[in-house]
Amino acid sequence: MKLTLSLIKADIGGVGGHSKPSIKLLESVKDFISSKGIKLLIDHRIFHTGDDIAILMSHTHGTEASAIHKLAFEAFKMGTEVAKSQGLYGAGQDILKDAFTGNVAGMGPAVAEIAFDERPNESILVFTMDKTEPGAFNLPFYLAFADPMWSPGLILSPPLMKGFTFEIIDTEHLSAEKTVRLNAPEDLYDIAALLRETRRYVIKSIFSRTHPDEKVVSVSITRLKHIAGRYVGKDDPVAVVRAQKIFPATEEVGACFRLAHYVGGDTRGSHHQPLMPVTFNSPASVHYCIPIVQGVAFNTHEGKMTEFIDMFDDPFWETVRRKASEKSIVMREQGFTEPSMLPRDELEYGGIVERLGKLEKRFTLAKK
Ligand SMILES: [Mg+2]
Repeated sequence: MKLTLSLIKADIGGVGGHSKPSIKLLESVKDFISSKGIKLLIDHRIFHTGDDIAILMSHTHGTEASAIHKLAFEAFKMGTEVAKSQGLYGAGQDILKDAFTGNVAGMGPAVAEIAFDERPNESILVFTMDKTEPGAFNLPFYLAFADPMWSPGLILSPPLMKGFTFEIIDTEHLSAEKTVRLNAPEDLYDIAALLRETRRYVIKSIFSRTHPDEKVVSVSITRLKHIAGRYVGKDDPVAVVRAQKIFPATEEVGACFRLAHYVGGDTRGSHHQPLMPVTFNSPASVHYCIPIVQGVAFNTHEGKMTEFIDMFDDPFWETVRRKASEKSIVMREQGFTEPSMLPRDELEYGGIVERLGKLEKRFTLAKK
């Protein structure tokens, strides 16, 4: 059967700051999707990553289906009212447009979707990040789908040996959806040259080269600043990944998150900090809202989802969390100096721009 997985997420309010949604808010979104989606969906799960609520839906309506997007959008709008009624911080933060116009992408929420012929043992990974940007996926997905030093299946498994096609988007030109398709391994250096610029060039999709119709990765590419015309929060990306058999194994993808690599985000969206893999339904950390990633793995059968495996919950990941904490502290010791704080053109809050503008006027030519 042709199955579609739609993962749509938004920050519509947090308890005590940018921490996590309230229980009441989460339950209200769950109840809404359960009742209003009953005829539309095969299955669904609602969960959170930091302050973001994710709605994961399986159905047969294809990607960019208006009815599916509308369901999620209406759930977030209803949830915004709940968040307001509780006085939650940033209520409705990611809902940037009022009237639904057919596709929730471009209205604030982040979307990652894949449609595929369901395999008899379809293994799915869902990654959700908070306090960072879509380019945070660049490095782990490059390693998992293009680097045999990290992903041994690329040399050990025949269906993987031809490599993968990366579809990379230039997010500075989102209105025109400028993308390029490059093949690993022969275009490896071109792929690296683009993915290096994590704030501009972002992996949108990855395809199998052995089975070119098979999409294996879908990443949300929302840049809220383009939608709102001003900074309204970090984009907090999500991704859906298919795993096993003709794709990398679950553990080959998961392992690439042990890097705890530095990404843009963190408190006030203005710092370089490591990406810490955390357990399912984690709140944001009060250590400067360190960027976090959650991962769950599951299977589908005729669209029904099994229970989730929490990918970053076993003892190994305690070591990675310790490493991320240490990397975080080391970088934070730099205080406001680069590279701890982002360069001027990346500073998301206007305050420092205004300050520098005022100072500029006080500069005079030095007397000789
Ligand atoms: Mg968030």
